[in-house]
Amino acid sequence: MANFYEEVKTELKEALKVIDKSQYYDLLTKPKQIITVNFPVKMDDGSTRIFTGYRVLHNSTLGPGKGGIRYHFAVCLEEVEALAALMSLKCALLDLPFGGAKGGVEVNPKELSEKELENLTRAFTRAICNNIGPDTDIPAPDVYTNAQTMSWIVDEYSKIKGKFTPAVVTGKPLDLGGAVGRNESTGLGAVYVMEEIMQIEGINKPTIAIQGLGNVGKHFAKFAAERACRVVAVSDSKGGIYNPKGLDLDEVFRVKEETGSVVNCEVEKITNEELLELEVDFLVPAALEDQITKKNANKIKARIVLEAANGPTTPEGEAILIKKGLRVIPDILVNAGGVTGSYFEWYQNKHNEKWTLEKFNSELEKKMKKAAREVYETRLERKVSCRKAALILSIQRILDKIK
Ligand code: NAD
Repeated sequence: MANFYEEVKTELKEALKVIDKSQYYDLLTKPKQIITVNFPVKMDDGSTRIFTGYRVLHNSTLGPGKGGIRYHFAVCLEEVEALAALMSLKCALLDLPFGGAKGGVEVNPKELSEKELENLTRAFTRAICNNIGPDTDIPAPDVYTNAQTMSWIVDEYSKIKGKFTPAVVTGKPLDLGGAVGRNESTGLGAVYVMEEIMQIEGINKPTIAIQGLGNVGKHFAKFAAERACRVVAVSDSKGGIYNPKGLDLDEVFRVKEETGSVVNCEVEKITNEELLELEVDFLVPAALEDQITKKNANKIKARIVLEAANGPTTPEGEAILIKKGLRVIPDILVNAGGVTGSYFEWYQNKHNEKWTLEKFNSELEKKMKKAAREVYETRLERKVSCRKAALILSIQRILDKIK
């Protein structure tokens, strides 16, 4: 991840050049606020350990900061800064009244007991409690944090402020003010983007290969299959499976649930590398960053790469794909259904509303398809890649508000 923020900054610099606004480079790359906290946590054996955590508020021009908190041993300030910048761009692209933020704690959560994780979350909340809030900066789950983590933050924050404040975070359990539809919204949002592209590009009943069958990949597969798309390959960290006639997804989900991996299905096995090289309409990387690089980009045969994960294509990889005539639909558009769902949750909390699943999904569909259309229009207008078009739209929204 060492070059991640440099890559984001380079992309921003190039997009600013296209619209002749290079003078705003510092404003868009220097975060508004960076907080580093070292805080004590009581461990099960009675000892106390000091952990380091970060919260970066990248930009709050469009509204309060919005972005997840991740628990990972490799978390570092540079990564958190890059992810916070991407959040500002994602929120602007989807026209949400949020700025961008991100947080993280340097910890291997697999080494901690449930009680220690609770202690850590509460201590981190106390350490940053004056910098988060429903109108300043609103965290959400990210890598190795979940609805339970959000419950602890709500509880600790509410105790400190003397008032039950569910809108301080999103991604909460339903009985604490969470929203129906939020959990599936990243995968479903990506399907809405795909549907809009199918309409624009005249694609029918596409074939799809999905790398990663976690929260995003699984929901993407399910909702895509419901729309007459043919999911021919899926994978997880142990490997992939392939059936050119289309996979029986109910069976795949059952085997994954029961045995921990899709490779235990009675279907042809393929490696993750082979999955990326399949000839399909949509290749959907939904696992990790840096999967399509200058090493394998030449072997990619999909028509369109739909970036459901954050940062799955490196800039060199993307340059090769574009030269070959492939389309790359960028992460800040494709996986923005998650933060859009978070906005719906926050909005319901603030206005004391409870939406039905139908309303939630129909609002999500409107937002995702509009953003996808706008990216395509800007791509044609400016004669740039979809990623650059998405960045230009985001930057312009932030700069217009500043004016
Ligand atoms: P997850 O942990 O639920 O799932 C990740 C999946 O990837 C798992 O199935 C895992 O087995 C698989 N995987 C891990 N290593 C792999 C490898 N080497 N090859 C193939 N598969 C591998 O994560 P998630 O929440 O689904 O997130 C996936 C991506 O989407 C991440 O980049 C994340 O930042 C991004 N994202 C997620 C959300 C969300 O709402 N969950 C929102 C926006 C972006």
